[in-house]
Amino acid sequence: MPDDDQFDAIVVGAGCSGCACAYALAKQGRNVLLIERGVTPGSKNVSGGRLYTYAMEMLEPGLYKRAPLQRRVVREQIMLLGKTGATTVDYVDDALIGEIPQSYTVLRAPLDEWFAGEAEAQGATVAAGILVDGLIERDGKIVGIRAGEDEMLADVVIAADGVNSRIAQAAGLFPDITAKSVGIGIKEVIEVSDGLIESRFNLSGDEGAARVIVGCTEGISGGGFLYTNKGSISLGIVFNPEQAASHGKSIHEIFQNFKMHRAILPLIEGGTTIEYGAHLVPELGITGVPQKLYRAGLVVVGDAAGFGINTGLVIRGMDLAIVSGLAAANAVTQANDTVEVGPLYMQQLQALQLLPSMDVFSGSHQVMGIPRVFEQYPNLANEVMKSMFAVDGKTPEKMTKTMLKILRRNLSLRQLAADGWKAYRSL
Ligand SMILES: Cc1cc2nc3c(=O)[nH]c(=O)nc-3n(C[C@H](O)[C@H](O)[C@H](O)COP(=O)(O)OP(=O)(O)OC[C@H]3O[C@@H](n4cnc5c(N)ncnc54)[C@H](O)[C@@H]3O)c2cc1C
Repeated sequence: MPDDDQFDAIVVGAGCSGCACAYALAKQGRNVLLIERGVTPGSKNVSGGRLYTYAMEMLEPGLYKRAPLQRRVVREQIMLLGKTGATTVDYVDDALIGEIPQSYTVLRAPLDEWFAGEAEAQGATVAAGILVDGLIERDGKIVGIRAGEDEMLADVVIAADGVNSRIAQAAGLFPDITAKSVGIGIKEVIEVSDGLIESRFNLSGDEGAARVIVGCTEGISGGGFLYTNKGSISLGIVFNPEQAASHGKSIHEIFQNFKMHRAILPLIEGGTTIEYGAHLVPELGITGVPQKLYRAGLVVVGDAAGFGINTGLVIRGMDLAIVSGLAAANAVTQANDTVEVGPLYMQQLQALQLLPSMDVFSGSHQVMGIPRVFEQYPNLANEVMKSMFAVDGKTPEKMTKTMLKILRRNLSLRQLAADGWKAYRSL
């Protein structure tokens, strides 16, 4: 750390948002300090994870090629898990892949460490193993941070400290999170050989698969994910914490049952769990983003600001974190004695399409409020499949009659109409 403890900007947190911000600021010639509480950047982070490349491209064209990416996602899969069976949609289309691959699977520990290293190479000072525990305020403006006995000053502090941002709370910007505003994600990284991954998921070379799984939460709002990496598989579930707390079974138990499901076990069989993590995820989309993401001397980026999109099929957080980090850096560079960073940051979030994109999915989280999505519908889909494929030599029932019976067994027509309407309105 330099002797002179005055910086143009101090970024708190070396996740995707903080690293992107420090990278851009250092590249724009600013004297920036990036502080991370973990012993190394990434050591405290958990993600599904799949990273959409466009965000890295916005930061610097071609930057993604230097990143420790895992597999290029070419197969998009949706799995509806029933009690005994599973129905899987497997979408593959070169049109989705494009010249620059749309997304890659990633592991956060190597990704964040690399990203912080790139920021350092641009000239940022990176300080890991330091917990920022307070802000310094003078005349109503944030002018620096405290870390234990140490004080460091800056023209602006960037809160990139993730979901439930203590920095934003210390600045008096947001209240503490509520159980309704977040999901709790748990994830295992399971070591499986590349050969097995490729044969089990129909992949070759650097190709990868991304799978969302519905019906794995024993009725709790939430869903599962599976990503193929190089030599490992990331498998996890995100749960609604309130419902999980009153469910009766621990989330660990539900996760174990999920792993043992006859459609999941063959995918991970013979593998060894090499990493286990749990983390909160912002769940409310744009409705959970506070109106004001700044005050004099401070802006809030990434998960700390509530930036996340979950359509049920697409989970986005890392890309929004990177874009918001870039937006903050651009704002810092544009600010001067008469124009403050905060309002410029809000303009940048519009200009870089972050807030407009989140607006489009403003109703997505409503789908998570339909309780039957997580159990009845996946069961219904699997019962329909069973009725279509079962042949036992007896005279079968008329298909329409069977379908109606299955429908009635799982839900009423009134519930179906109400859910359809709610889903339609949330799109
Ligand atoms: C289970 C799960 C699956 C997910 N899957 C995906 C996915 O597939 N794709 C996707 O795009 N997103 C995914 N996300 C979301 C994604 O992980 C986040 O949106 C993203 O990590 C946000 O980046 P960030 O930099 O804002 O925050 P974080 O990555 O949380 O980084 C914050 C950093 O700040 C540090 N920090 C915190 N407090 C302090 C402090 N006081 N002092 C110093 N350092 C501090 C932390 O140690 C951490 O390194 C997933 C999340 C979870 C939990």
